[in-house]
Amino acid sequence: MSVLSAFAEAMSSGVVEVVDLTTPLQESTPILELPAPFANTSRFRLEELSRYDDRGPAWYWNDIHTGEHTGTHLDAPNHWVTGRAGPDVSQVPMRTLVAPVAVIDRTAEVARDPDYLLEVADLEAWQTEHGPLPDGGWLLYRTGWEAHGATQEEFMNADDAGPHTPGVSTECARWIAEQSPLTGFGVETVGTDAGAAGGFDPPFSCHHFLMGANRWGLTSLRNLGRVPTTGAVLVVCPLPIVGGSGSPARVLALVER
Ligand code: MN
Repeated sequence: MSVLSAFAEAMSSGVVEVVDLTTPLQESTPILELPAPFANTSRFRLEELSRYDDRGPAWYWNDIHTGEHTGTHLDAPNHWVTGRAGPDVSQVPMRTLVAPVAVIDRTAEVARDPDYLLEVADLEAWQTEHGPLPDGGWLLYRTGWEAHGATQEEFMNADDAGPHTPGVSTECARWIAEQSPLTGFGVETVGTDAGAAGGFDPPFSCHHFLMGANRWGLTSLRNLGRVPTTGAVLVVCPLPIVGGSGSPARVLALVER
């Protein structure tokens, strides 16, 4: 039997399950909010054009208003100044869009400390236990933060000192970008950087190092608890926005039961 025939049979028999890792897109979907004087991205919004009425008697349709970095989305290397010469979101390699995926779970640690940072030693220990990170694949960082996704306030978890959300240390970001075989890194939070990363050196070090090394980012992922530590395949579907720095994306995992 051909590989794809076997795959199709595994899909229809339920041996392979498709898990949706995407946050639904609506006006309430949390987005990044930067302090003044920086420009901010748009909330997702539908603008109704017609709904079986005199504007279009037999059809319903909308214009959509959105930022590139709204909701579950893909960060392209050219999103950051360190990757400004890199590919835009329309140029993402097909092998990045369909690729093996690994998961590291720090739900318990983040429940105790929302500012928790993943370190290089955590990834080295992960590899000792589970084998090498997938070559050309994705690492998804499970933190349980999806449980805070109901409101903007809870998702940002900010106080006078700024947002408190988990991320990776500067050294860990550098390691992912320069030492790992990964094509990209995905998170449950609003961005790949920790809430406190504006104060890191360099600031927003996850963006700095990953984008600078032509790696890709995924944010606002959900259902990571349904993706096994190893062995699943990620399917990432951004819009091919020519010249774009990112795109809202439907993100799926193919999981073998
Ligand atoms: Mn982004």
